[in-house]
Amino acid sequence: MAESPAQLARRVAGAVSERRVMEETYRFISVPSPTGAEAEFAHVYAGVLDDLGLEVRLDEEFPSSPSVVARLEGSGGGPTLQLDGHTDTVPVSHDESSIDLARGIVRGRGAADMKGGLAAICEAVRALQEAGVRPAGDVLVTAHGLHEAPLGDQRTLRSLLRRNIAGDAAVIAELGHDHLATASRGMSIFRIRVHREGAPMHEVELREPISNPIAAVRLLLDRLDERAAELAGRPDDFAGPETLFLGEVHSGDFYNRVPVEATLVGTRRYRPPATTEQVRAELEALCREVAAETGLDLEVGLQEVGPAYALDPTEPVIAAVRHGYEAVVGGELPLAAAQAVGNAADFVSFGVPAVYHGVNQQTAHSDDEHVSGSDLARAARVLAASVIHFCGVEEKETTR
Ligand SMILES: [Zn+2]
Repeated sequence: MAESPAQLARRVAGAVSERRVMEETYRFISVPSPTGAEAEFAHVYAGVLDDLGLEVRLDEEFPSSPSVVARLEGSGGGPTLQLDGHTDTVPVSHDESSIDLARGIVRGRGAADMKGGLAAICEAVRALQEAGVRPAGDVLVTAHGLHEAPLGDQRTLRSLLRRNIAGDAAVIAELGHDHLATASRGMSIFRIRVHREGAPMHEVELREPISNPIAAVRLLLDRLDERAAELAGRPDDFAGPETLFLGEVHSGDFYNRVPVEATLVGTRRYRPPATTEQVRAELEALCREVAAETGLDLEVGLQEVGPAYALDPTEPVIAAVRHGYEAVVGGELPLAAAQAVGNAADFVSFGVPAVYHGVNQQTAHSDDEHVSGSDLARAARVLAASVIHFCGVEEKETTR
């Protein structure tokens, strides 16, 4: 009798080696790849996938940050699942990396974010092959640099997506390990610039106190606070509360000089179906009022970090990861909203449904970044099981 997808998934999960995925993670950490300088590591990653028999190429549109594009060809007739990750780590130094097989811990920059996830992708493919399970659809593995802000701006991933180098759905091997994010708030960084005509002058020369840009700052602070309170008072929903947060206020350069400019910078997080255009209109309306009251010029700059989205709950990738998780971990993977803006937002904005499943990233970006072997193995097992459930599996000849 043919094995059910859950039985197949458990058989493949049995082929995952905790030791092997730990050692691979350690090897990946040993090749530093701070944002903008990922080429050496991209070659190492491409080499591992090549050794696994995938059809691999390096996309060198951004030569210092090449993208790895690798395909495991399916037997035919199934959808393509993309397993994706970023090759760069934050450019923050870390104590020497280490591996402790007895305790099951790998330490070093990128252990959690996300060389562990990238190693789990390789181990998932390896386990499928060792178990002799060939998916019906293709598995597309992509890994790209220029992810971590502020240097990383997702141009590598977005370029791949723009050129349709994508699966029918994607699982990004980070940010989720005990829940499945199917929705996310959008996030835009706003920058309000207040400006007056003329040059800096002595305070006693100022005729109209209101035309001091700092007067506009006071009005703006009040209005932004009011708006933030309004947003906080709205009933919460699945995606989480909308927020308006102010992180920077700048003005003035000397105690008795009237400044020419003031700048306020912050974030605005919004729920689907709100868009960055609506956020812009909201902030512009607020600034028009302050401009009318002060006679100063106000200008709103807005940079969308990621759009708001909510996946259709019937997207097959959601069931594939949940069924895969249930088969190899046991228990239900609860649905949730993503707390941070990650690459799923990019995928979704290009029409590719995407979710996250990787290792616990609690220590990401920290001074003691580490990942456990059991976590790496679990991620690899769930990724492999997700492939089986999403891509389908070739029907084997059965003896009659
Ligand atoms: Zn990351």
